[in-house]
Amino acid sequence: MLFPPGFGEISSFVIGLCIGSFLNVCIHRIPLKVSVVHPRSACPRCGYVLTWKDNIPVVSYLMLRGRCRSCAAPISMQYPIIELVTAAIFLLHWYVLGPSWLLPVRLLFACALIVLFMIDLEHQILPDVITLPGIVLGFAFSLFLPPGPIMSAAGAVVGGGILWGIAEAWFRLRKVEAMGFGDVKMLAMVGAFLGLKLVIFTFIASSFIGGVIAAGLVATRRADMATKVPFGTMLAAGALAASLWGDRIVAWYLSNL
Ligand SMILES: [Zn+2]
Repeated sequence: MLFPPGFGEISSFVIGLCIGSFLNVCIHRIPLKVSVVHPRSACPRCGYVLTWKDNIPVVSYLMLRGRCRSCAAPISMQYPIIELVTAAIFLLHWYVLGPSWLLPVRLLFACALIVLFMIDLEHQILPDVITLPGIVLGFAFSLFLPPGPIMSAAGAVVGGGILWGIAEAWFRLRKVEAMGFGDVKMLAMVGAFLGLKLVIFTFIASSFIGGVIAAGLVATRRADMATKVPFGTMLAAGALAASLWGDRIVAWYLSNL
């Protein structure tokens, strides 16, 4: 396909900013179990309903200097940060995948991961409304695209199975719940999108990231061994890395055995 130079880069970044703005709404509203499309966003302090001028990603935040247009209540920095991070992730996908049928599928997957990352970080939950349709969609796309239906099904079963087994073993051993079933469903979703090989990669990568962060927190005495780490947050980071670079990293590793 022919595009003018920079077209793909600029459009993926701008589309990422706009989608990031919608992901902010999802991150805010899904834990409250309210609709993500209705009603329009309003200032939580004065009830001022945002117009299109207040909704331009990043730009509105800068123009308003991070304050409500009506009552000047501060607006969280989280909004423009999520928009910029989403835009950067869209741009990365364009660089790695280029124009392909897999691109929109992996972008949708990345959006689910961004929302799960933030909701797990803030509320320690991984809502079923994202993970369960995610499992179905990941499998449906794999009927036509990599990793293919067999690897997708195997990925979902093994991904969910690993965490279910760990949760079960931990419960019998220590009589405490190590993690909720949200993690089980989330890794099943990752497996459905990425397949068997990359779901194992995701599990190893997220455990490693989680271990490093936990060790850092314990070492600096900000946590003790009983502190629960939001594992879904690590899974989201690991799955994003797997989606973008997993195949290359696994191939490199196998060729160096
Ligand atoms: Zn206000």
